[in-house]
Amino acid sequence: MNTTPRIAIVGAGPAGLMCARVLHNHDIPATVYDADTSLTSRDAGGSLDLHADTGQIALADAGLLEAFTAVARYEDQAKRRVDQHGTELAAFVPDADDDAAPEIDRGQLRRLLAGSVPAGTVHFGHRVVGVDAVDGGYRLRFADGGHAAADLVIGADGTWSRVRPLVSDAAPAYTGVSFVEVRFDDVEARHPEIAALVGTGHLFANDGAGRAIVAQRNSGGQIRCYLSMRIEADWPRRAGLDPSDAAAIRRYLLDAYGGWGARFRPLLTDTDGRYLHRPIHALPAGLTWPHRPGVTLVGDAAHVMPPLGGWGANLALLDAAELATAIATQPADAALAGYEKRMWARSAPLAAAANEGLTRFAGAADHIPDHRAEHQRYQRDAAAYRAARA
Ligand SMILES: Cc1cc2nc3c(=O)[nH]c(=O)nc-3n(C[C@H](O)[C@H](O)[C@H](O)COP(=O)(O)OP(=O)(O)OC[C@H]3O[C@@H](n4cnc5c(N)ncnc54)[C@H](O)[C@@H]3O)c2cc1C
Repeated sequence: MNTTPRIAIVGAGPAGLMCARVLHNHDIPATVYDADTSLTSRDAGGSLDLHADTGQIALADAGLLEAFTAVARYEDQAKRRVDQHGTELAAFVPDADDDAAPEIDRGQLRRLLAGSVPAGTVHFGHRVVGVDAVDGGYRLRFADGGHAAADLVIGADGTWSRVRPLVSDAAPAYTGVSFVEVRFDDVEARHPEIAALVGTGHLFANDGAGRAIVAQRNSGGQIRCYLSMRIEADWPRRAGLDPSDAAAIRRYLLDAYGGWGARFRPLLTDTDGRYLHRPIHALPAGLTWPHRPGVTLVGDAAHVMPPLGGWGANLALLDAAELATAIATQPADAALAGYEKRMWARSAPLAAAANEGLTRFAGAADHIPDHRAEHQRYQRDAAAYRAARA
């Protein structure tokens, strides 16, 4: 590698943008390629809680914690659990000064990160279809027939990474759980029943028989909801449904949630958006690979896991900040190898825990997480992380 390596980051999600930002803070240029046609061409999705011990450390290292706290929603750390009839099983109300895991919309986070790198860093409309090793470096091939050369390729391209095959044959497998994402806008005025049902933060409803609903406040009076089913990945096809036929999907959902209380019905029927199918896939927990010079993975590309602990975006941000800092402060090969060791050690137990959570998911409704203890742990682990590198 020459002294100013050409760094290509594939993917402008939380991981790729964070990586570019921290490199930029060290005056190291990088080019980010993303398949989306623009920053806003696709709905970025729902809200994320950024934990004190991971996502918030990365934001602080990137010099973006203040910008995050300006838009973060602290009150939305609240969580309520109910059964399928709406009977409350547990409620967590955060203390006024609780800053362990405030929420931010994915779209807000993406804009914040994208706005923190120099103009021209992110090249949208660049879907990578393959990466080849050539002449001691790499050549990225794009869907439109174009290509780009790089000395260092960082795969931040999520679940279906096109960079991953350079280091591993592993592929994500279906977990047996699918979400249908729905969205309600201007809820206080237009969906007052849904607003009252969900309250602040998250509402988790579970019937103990393979159906759950996770509803969450987003900013701007929006509520999003994951209708979650233990079901085959291709359930619309098996049911003879056209996934774009909203009326047919609505009928299917009403039947699937037939034993649920009437108050949940608007969540199934009144979406302001499309019914978005999100089959949940995961890589094997604890995936590693033989280190390969000039290429590595961050975030979901390295360790996509079921979204049960809310760790995915948090790990993606910390992976990216640590990798960028390592690249800036160490010889390239040592930087990548050292980063990979830390990233694997951190993500493996969380991926195993997320898989374990999935086995209970929408099963017997006997596991009620202790969110207060969880928040105390984020703070303790954040202090330990900072102390370890001081
Ligand atoms: C339903 C659901 C709910 C979740 N809830 C939470 C939560 O509450 N908290 C949490 O921490 N995590 C959550 N997660 C996980 C979280 O969304 C991911 O872990 C996180 O987005 C990973 O970030 P990333 O940057 O690694 O990948 P991504 O966010 O997937 O970003 C990848 C980027 O790469 C681009 N890309 C993909 N392929 C290509 C290609 N071939 N060429 C060029 N560009 C490409 C994409 O357009 C995208 O911009 C959830 C996930 C799901 C599915």
